[in-house]
Amino acid sequence: MLGAVFVAVMAGAGPADVDVYVTCEGAAPAYRAETIASAIFRRAGVTVVWHAWYGRGTVSAMALRVNLAERTPGDRLPGALGVCYPYADRSRSITVFCDRIRRSANRNPALESALLAHVLVHEITHVITGVDRHSASGMMKAHWDAADHDAMVEAPLPFSEVDLILIHQRLNKAQAANR
Ligand SMILES: [Zn+2]
Repeated sequence: MLGAVFVAVMAGAGPADVDVYVTCEGAAPAYRAETIASAIFRRAGVTVVWHAWYGRGTVSAMALRVNLAERTPGDRLPGALGVCYPYADRSRSITVFCDRIRRSANRNPALESALLAHVLVHEITHVITGVDRHSASGMMKAHWDAADHDAMVEAPLPFSEVDLILIHQRLNKAQAANR
């Protein structure tokens, strides 16, 4: 617990709002994407602390799991880069299809990191807000196209105002319940 608090304080952003426990089926850890995702959330006023699955110390009211999956069967949610179950309140689990993200990025490492970061932020936002809602553009758009891919390498796609309101409403509620 102290370690996680220390990391959050070192980031200059106060205690964690969200703890994310990551399991990784592939060989490559997702540090770069996690760093980008943290920065995106920090700009939205949310502090995320990442843990290896075997790590310990939930310090926030909102803890969730992410599995970075490989070898996704072709018939599992074709076209999806990630999935979560925002209505399953207990599990709060997310699966990210890393093999599909790598293929979408087409050997462009900058896009691969940006895309993985965006999928993480998108799915974590679904779980935080507890809704399967999408925006017409930006971070919570249902499907990003080539123009979105180009844009996200330059700068993170923005949250809509409604996305931000929902995120903070839900986090405040979780934190109030945790006190
Ligand atoms: Zn979505």
